[in-house]
Amino acid sequence: MSDATLLIDGQSIPSDATFGVVNPATEEVFAQAPEASRENLDAAVAAARKAFPAWRAKSLDERRAVLLSMADAVEADLPTLAELLTREQGKSLANAQFEVGGTAMWMRALATLELPVEVISEDDASRVELHRRPLGVVGAITPWNFPLLLSMWKVAPALLTGNTMVLKPSPYTPLAVMRFGEIVRDIVPAGVLNVVCGGDDLGRWITEHDDVDKISFTGSGPTGKKIMASASGNLKRITLELGGNDAAIVRGDANPAEIAQPIFDMAFQNSGQVCGAIKRLYVHENVYEEMCEALVTLANEKTVGDGMAEGTDFGPVQNAMQYDIVCDLAKSAREDGGRFLVGGEPPEGKGYFFPLTIVADVTDGHRLVDEEPFGPILPVIRWSEDDDVIRRANDTRFGLGGSVWSANAEKATEMASQLETGSAWVNQHFSLSPFLPFGGVKESGMGVENGPWGLAEFTSSQVLNVKKG
Ligand code: NAD
Repeated sequence: MSDATLLIDGQSIPSDATFGVVNPATEEVFAQAPEASRENLDAAVAAARKAFPAWRAKSLDERRAVLLSMADAVEADLPTLAELLTREQGKSLANAQFEVGGTAMWMRALATLELPVEVISEDDASRVELHRRPLGVVGAITPWNFPLLLSMWKVAPALLTGNTMVLKPSPYTPLAVMRFGEIVRDIVPAGVLNVVCGGDDLGRWITEHDDVDKISFTGSGPTGKKIMASASGNLKRITLELGGNDAAIVRGDANPAEIAQPIFDMAFQNSGQVCGAIKRLYVHENVYEEMCEALVTLANEKTVGDGMAEGTDFGPVQNAMQYDIVCDLAKSAREDGGRFLVGGEPPEGKGYFFPLTIVADVTDGHRLVDEEPFGPILPVIRWSEDDDVIRRANDTRFGLGGSVWSANAEKATEMASQLETGSAWVNQHFSLSPFLPFGGVKESGMGVENGPWGLAEFTSSQVLNVKKG
């Protein structure tokens, strides 16, 4: 039996079937999560369908008030949610607290968004308006790197726009999201938000379900492709936020002493398990060694350890599969002649710990550069010609984000605008806001989250064309 419960139709539903949740710092199962059956899912979808008419009929302000109360509940439960996040995800307690606080902040910010009616034309003969209508029942499926925050990127806009929903967290990190369901149970009208828990099969059942109208998914590219296929049965609307292999390009006029810190932070945040982390660092040959040295100095100051321990800056890789990917990419970089400036050797003992690792002298065509490691390992690649580095940055099936760093902002902006990515940053990387759209092009995804553009993804447009006279 699990202490956690499913949230279905406003009720906390226990489940006899459970699965173990592993603490990546110890490799031990420390909790049981409830495993939803197909009947549980059908009940959740039916509850969402039943709740839809009354929820969509509420005013925007009424729905907004519910979201704000949910944000208050998250904030009030911060200590418990943060500890759950650290134990299941691995991140340091400080970073887990930051995620919980950020979740409440993000919900409040998204709750301020409006759904204005656009008047397309008006004359003596007719008035034509464009309305945004909710889609119905949303299925939201989320990954394990920011379990709570990325779930709220879906819950807030889906509910604000008048949809009802079924949310499924990753089976690696279900506990904080299940807890969220429990603490908001009495705030949200029954059936409006349902939270189910289970493995990949449960995800597939949601994406195939005939009574689900939209899928909002964050996760890996291979899963995104499966979802696109299985959502076709009833032509579900889909938003896919997938993996990336973001390039950051440092020009020869940049000052490594100034930019090493933000580049380091955006490469190693959450132990590199960030979709839009810097995963390929292209550094101009004039500042290459200096940049490498500055990054190594920063890496040497940091502690990798159990997220619950005092003084831990970076936690372990979240799960065994991802840890094996990181180890394998490190091995292939060694075989490709990579120069390991720091890290590279995982410590003995329990836990999926991998040291912060910086590898010089690898280049395009090497696996560490071409593939998404999603872990604490950064290749630093040398370049000399502007056109050539842009071509290499774009020579990938990914297209999430990218950045250019330079003392000459105008030149950097010109280069950044040539990146084939959903976001292009200048002298910063992964600079996000609840008010800015975020999403990928090419195989990094489809559609955006956040801002009014993200809100629109949870709606369909309706032209209301009224003849006068
Ligand atoms: P994943 O695709 O393995 O799993 C994500 C979710 O999908 C889980 O809840 C899982 O149970 C579910 N799932 C698995 N198979 C399914 C199927 N056939 N049908 C429906 N659901 C299914 O991804 P992950 O390993 O949890 O996350 C890591 C990946 O997510 C990385 O590639 C990372 O870059 C990406 N990511 C992208 C963003 C973004 O905004 N673009 C943000 C965070 C993570």
